[in-house]
Amino acid sequence: MAIRRIVKLGEDDVLRKHARRVDKFDRRLGMLLDDMADTMYEADGVGLAAPQVGILKRAVVIDVRDDEDEGGGVGLIELINPEIMEAEGSQMCIEGCLSVPGRRGKVERPEKVRVHAQDRKGRHIELEAEGFLANAVCHEIDHLDGIMYTDKMIEDVTDQIEEAARQRESGEEGEAE
Ligand SMILES: [Zn+2]
Repeated sequence: MAIRRIVKLGEDDVLRKHARRVDKFDRRLGMLLDDMADTMYEADGVGLAAPQVGILKRAVVIDVRDDEDEGGGVGLIELINPEIMEAEGSQMCIEGCLSVPGRRGKVERPEKVRVHAQDRKGRHIELEAEGFLANAVCHEIDHLDGIMYTDKMIEDVTDQIEEAARQRESGEEGEAE
């Protein structure tokens, strides 16, 4: 296992390309998935798509379990050749991306999705996701088609979030005994 370098937006057009379907479910794919999970955890992310480490394959890893309220408690999810079969409802999400460090934006996503995919052995799987997990799944699948969240962004909220964090910090200082 190894940490791979995350490609940043504007650095390399690999983020803008259409990734190829995976047809070989071999050790190489397993190593890629292991590295992607390591890289995601190291960067403190909740999802990572193969193009973000420079590999144009339809593979993503997601782990939202650290999210306190809506994580779903499912742990690490690997999706190969994922496809959204059904989408329902909508939610406003505040998103960030490991390829767009330091920025946050508001994006509209479905509230619930049903996804068909394969696991690392090529077995067909189905995932029902809602809330934050549905958000993460949609964000990562977009990466496989060269779509960045910033393309769909309704509003850049980076400054608002930084301001709120500053106020929280100074508020805490004020309350200190
Ligand atoms: Zn991303």
